[in-house]
Amino acid sequence: MQDSRAINRVTLVLGVTAIIVLTALVGYSWYWNVANIREENINLALTEARANWKKDAAFRRWVARHGGLYVEPDERTPPNPALAHLPNRDVVTTDGQKLTLMNPAYMMRQMAEEFEQDFGIKGKITGKRQLNPINKPDAWQLKALNIFESGRADEVYEQQMIDGKPYLRYMKAMYMTEGCVKCHGILGFKDGDLRGGVSVSIPLGRYFEAADDTNRGIAFTHLGVWLAGFIAILAFAWLLRRQLQRMTDEALRDGLTGLPNIRLFNNRLEQSIRKFHRDSEPLFAVCFLDLDRFKNLNDSRGHKVGDKLLIALSRRLNELLRPGDTVARMGGDEFTLLINNISGIDEALGIARRILSSFREPFRLGNDQIYADASIGVCMITERYNKAEDMVRDADIAMYRAKSTGRGRVDVFNPEMHKYALETMQIETDLRSAIEKGHMEVFYQPVVDVVEKRIHGFEALLRWHHPALGDIPPDRFIPVAENSGQIREIGRWVLEQACMQVREWGLQFAPDKPFSISVNLSGVQLAERDVQDAVAEVLKRTRLDSCCLHLEVTETALVGHKEQAREAVSKLRELGVSVSIDDFGKGYCSLAYLQEFEFDTLKIDKDFVQDMAPDGKGLQLVRMLMLLARDLDMKVIAEGVETAEQFSRLSAMKCPYIQGYYFARPLPAAQIKSLLEAGCHRDIGRLLDAGSAAGASGGCQAGRP
Ligand code: C2E
Ligand code: CA
Ligand code: CA
Repeated sequence: MQDSRAINRVTLVLGVTAIIVLTALVGYSWYWNVANIREENINLALTEARANWKKDAAFRRWVARHGGLYVEPDERTPPNPALAHLPNRDVVTTDGQKLTLMNPAYMMRQMAEEFEQDFGIKGKITGKRQLNPINKPDAWQLKALNIFESGRADEVYEQQMIDGKPYLRYMKAMYMTEGCVKCHGILGFKDGDLRGGVSVSIPLGRYFEAADDTNRGIAFTHLGVWLAGFIAILAFAWLLRRQLQRMTDEALRDGLTGLPNIRLFNNRLEQSIRKFHRDSEPLFAVCFLDLDRFKNLNDSRGHKVGDKLLIALSRRLNELLRPGDTVARMGGDEFTLLINNISGIDEALGIARRILSSFREPFRLGNDQIYADASIGVCMITERYNKAEDMVRDADIAMYRAKSTGRGRVDVFNPEMHKYALETMQIETDLRSAIEKGHMEVFYQPVVDVVEKRIHGFEALLRWHHPALGDIPPDRFIPVAENSGQIREIGRWVLEQACMQVREWGLQFAPDKPFSISVNLSGVQLAERDVQDAVAEVLKRTRLDSCCLHLEVTETALVGHKEQAREAVSKLRELGVSVSIDDFGKGYCSLAYLQEFEFDTLKIDKDFVQDMAPDGKGLQLVRMLMLLARDLDMKVIAEGVETAEQFSRLSAMKCPYIQGYYFARPLPAAQIKSLLEAGCHRDIGRLLDAGSAAGASGGCQAGRP
């Protein structure tokens, strides 16, 4: 919007400037031409005047050379009174014809009269002293005569109005010659003297008419040029505007989906924020949508399919929103929605849920059909938002929350989440040095063999004693470590600690039947190409028998890169290590996975165990899972056993291995060692007593709840 206003302004300024320049150039050219034409016409008139003068001069010279010309006098040509002093002014021919002498001036005057009558060109011989008063100069001629006298020039011309008509007046000095003395000597002139001048007045009317004609043509041509230029400028401005618009469009749109990009989205969001601060309404919300497991889709089906999905999704989002709303692509599989004009958070949530429920429909990509899922974070406008980035950030935080609490969900931002996000950042930073600084510690929780009534082994569970934030539970920091990739290093450290520890305990307390150790393996570690090499190296270094090591993998670690995971599991098993499926039944894993993967052990999730009341669904589920495991020849561990009742139910179902607070909480190595020293590993009754004692003595973390 702002951009297009700026583009309009730029094109307008450029266009107007170009038109002004064009008008100035064309105007100047027109003026120059008109001025030139006038000048040219005046020059033509001047040429005509000079030609006239030359003709006059030639006649006069000719007549003067012959001392005059005898003609028959008549009314128009009476004997010249100015020549009355000449004895031979009038003569009679032998045949009795009367003739009178015309001196050149007289003759020229006569001819000039005719000439004026016929052609409008005035001619006159004049001087300050004249034989005939008719030849008296007028004011202009007098001025010219003065100039001749002063010697400044012997020719002058000027435009002047005569009887309301324009004339070019021309005058050239005239000097006495031999023939002139006869008549004009009487006035005291001598040969070679300035006698006066010959004046010619050319009517300029027809020159001006000709000039006007040419000028009209020039005006038309110039108008044509100006119009052509004007149209060209308009066309250029239009093209420029379109090109600029296209360029800004490209800069504001996402190349793949054609949706607005982050810049345009932020522009619009900022407008909404400003409006909200001005008028306290309308309310609006920002949604941040992120596809779940998009990376897996890209990895498994290729980028082309991924791109097609994004295009299909953008189309669907556009269809689901109202015309005033905006869908933008932030990049990758992240989209933002600006939902305008809503009554409150419920409406925003309704729209977000409608979007999520649309994901039940598959996306049709050519012949393919793809089911996708997304998580959405919602951030509602409040007084505290001034910047678009802040709202987008908070919607993102809410989305992250939605994702980490189970995907395919909507979550609404609240300030707590911001705190949470900041804490996450701190966790990520501090994780880097947590091991080095000795803040990490591996705890061990006994796994009880129900049949042999002894401790079968332990599960290694990581603890982080953070100096400022206190003990941070693994559920909090493991996902952060997974996201940042730090889990590889941390996981390897836990594995090494646990293997070393359990070998030591085995040698010391159960040399004939060494303890097993279960170590959790994150999906990120499982996806590592050299996971089996890393495990083999730790086994070698710690000299733990590979059959004592159980690696626990959660369902969620398998989903997405199934093939790779299956390969990793079988390679790990080649090392002699057993692999358990952890938290089974909690996630999305299908039962088929149990067949496809070569798991040795199935760990029943504690939620089912704790829901084993006679009317709870958990009981049926646990029973079913145990049957399933038996059929597939897998061992079963029930975890999260907290009460005697749960224990007895599981025993009745012949659950072979049990882990839970009922026997012991996860404990530091030193406490486990004390239990082992007390012989608890050979006798679970003693383990139970130790738990009770710890509970009674008030606060041993190891005790039963
Ligand atoms: P998990 O692998 O399912 O571990 C069992 C969790 O259940 C542990 O939580 C344990 O303390 C808890 N638990 C055991 N018995 C009971 C019981 O009777 N009642 C209840 N309510 N809880 C019981 P913890 O130690 O907080 O660990 C949580 C999760 O963090 C683990 O779940 C595991 O997924 C992850 N984790 C812990 N340590 C590591 C590690 O070193 N590497 C990896 N990748 N993940 C780890
Ligand atoms: Ca586990
Ligand atoms: Ca578990």
